[in-house]
Amino acid sequence: MTAMALEHCDLLIVGAGPAGMAAAVAAAPSGASIAVIDDNPAAGGQIWRDGPGASLPAAARRWRDALERHANIRVCSGTRVVAAPGRNELLLEDAERGWRMRWSKLILCTGARELLLPFPGWTLPGVTGAGGLQALIKAGLPVEGERIVIAGSGPLLLAAASTARAAGAKVVRIAEQASFAAVAGFAASLLRWPGKAMQAAALADPQYRTSSRIVSAHGGTQVESVRLLLGEREVEIACDRIACGFGLTPNTQLGRMLGCDLTPAEAGAQALAVDALQATSLPGVYAAGECTGFGGSERALAQGTIAGYAAIGNERAAKQNERERARWNAFAAQLHRSFALAPAIRQMPQPDTLMCRCEDVPFSALADCSGWTDAKLHRRCGMGACQGRVCGDAAQFLFGWTPPAPRPPLSPARIATLAGLVRPDVDVDRQ
Ligand SMILES: Cc1cc2nc3c(=O)[nH]c(=O)nc-3n(C[C@H](O)[C@H](O)[C@H](O)COP(=O)(O)OP(=O)(O)OC[C@H]3O[C@@H](n4cnc5c(N)ncnc54)[C@H](O)[C@@H]3O)c2cc1C
Repeated sequence: MTAMALEHCDLLIVGAGPAGMAAAVAAAPSGASIAVIDDNPAAGGQIWRDGPGASLPAAARRWRDALERHANIRVCSGTRVVAAPGRNELLLEDAERGWRMRWSKLILCTGARELLLPFPGWTLPGVTGAGGLQALIKAGLPVEGERIVIAGSGPLLLAAASTARAAGAKVVRIAEQASFAAVAGFAASLLRWPGKAMQAAALADPQYRTSSRIVSAHGGTQVESVRLLLGEREVEIACDRIACGFGLTPNTQLGRMLGCDLTPAEAGAQALAVDALQATSLPGVYAAGECTGFGGSERALAQGTIAGYAAIGNERAAKQNERERARWNAFAAQLHRSFALAPAIRQMPQPDTLMCRCEDVPFSALADCSGWTDAKLHRRCGMGACQGRVCGDAAQFLFGWTPPAPRPPLSPARIATLAGLVRPDVDVDRQ
C-alpha cells in the first residue's frame, strides 16, 4: 500500500481571500511556518479573483506581493479540503496528489457564497448568479454585445454590472428589491466611509431600479427575456443573460464539519461564532472574514489581521486592530439593514419551480416536509452534485431549515485521496 504524505505547519489558513491573506501577513513576522490553502488557482478570493478577463486592482497586487515577501508563508493554490481525519489534521487534495496536513493553529477564512433563490425559469441556460457572472467574465467568458439583466439585492449587483459593461455587455436593467428609501438611506450613510462612497459613485448606473424583483425568466434553449415586477407594474425585457444574487451567505461548511459553534439562527444567516480575538468555540481554531458574516473586504482584512496576530499569541497587536474592525462592523450592520430581503422574495418560487436542480425536486414537493433531513431523505433534495450548497441555502431562507453539519468528503475527491484516510503516513517533515 502506498503511503500518504503527512506535512506539518504551525499555522494553517484555509482561504486566500482578503481575510486569509491578512492573517498570513500578520502572523508571518513571528517566523512560524504558515501554509495558506485555497481552491482557486491564485490568491485573492472572490473580490480579487484572477483570470484572463480580470484586471487586478493595486490593493490585490500589494497583498499578493506581501505574501511572497515572507519565505515562511507557503501558498497552496488549487487545493481543496477533503476531510478532517484526525485531531489537528486536514486531508487535502490538489491536481497532483492528496496529503495530510497537521497544524498547531488553524484559521478558517472560507468566505461567503451567493444566495441563489429559485424562481420560474431560473434553470434556463444563461441564468447565473451575479457574482457567478463576474467570475465567468473574469475567467474569459465573452459577453460583448450581450443584453444582460441583473437582479436581486445588494451592492454586488452594481459590481457585477460594472464588470459586465467593462467586458462590452449592455446592461439593460439592474433590479434591486430594496426600496428607494432603504437604498437612499444606505447611500447617505456612506459619508461615514468615504472610500465606499467613492466606490458607490463610480458604480452608479442609469439602469438601476429599486423596489424591483424578478418574476420569471423565459426562453427555449437559452434565456430570451425576463419578467420583472417594478413596484406594482410587471414588465418584460428581452435579454441574453440574467444574473441574480440575493446577498451572500457565510460559507461555514468546513467550520461546521470541525464542530465550530454558529451564531444564533434568529440573528439571520448563520455564521461561525467568534470572540473578540476571532477565536471560534474550538481551541486553537480561529475564523475571519465572511465566514463570520458578510460585510465587505475591509472588514475581512481587519478580522484577518486580528486572527493572524491572535493565532501567534500577539494579543496586544491584535487589540490594536479592534477599532478598524469596529468601523467595518458598523458598515456591515448598515449593509444588512439596508438590503434586508423583503417578505415578497419568498413568494418567487411557484409550485412547479425546481428547488433542487441537481435532483429535479419541485418547490411543491417540499411543502409537507418537516425539515432539511426529511426533504433530503424523502425527496432527494440536496442529494445531487452540489450536495445542497445551492438548495440548502435557499431552503434555509425559504423554510427556515438548518441543514446538519456536512459529512466528509467536503468536496468531490479522487479515490486515491480518500484511500489515504486509511493508509499509513510518511511524515515528510521528520525524514
Ligand atoms: C461570488 C462573489 C463575488 C463577489 N464579488 C465582489 C466584488 O466584486 N466586489 C466586492 O467588493 N465584493 C465582492 N464579493 C464580496 C467579497 O467576497 C468579500 O467582500 C471579500 O472577498 C471577503 O473576503 P474573505 O477573505 O472573507 O472571503 P473570500 O474572498 O470569499 O475568500 C475565501 C476563499 O476561500 C476559499 N475556500 C473556501 N472554502 C475552501 C475550502 N474548503 N478549501 C479551499 N479553499 C476554500 C474560496 O475559494 C475563496 O478563495 C463577492 C462575493 C462573492 C461570493
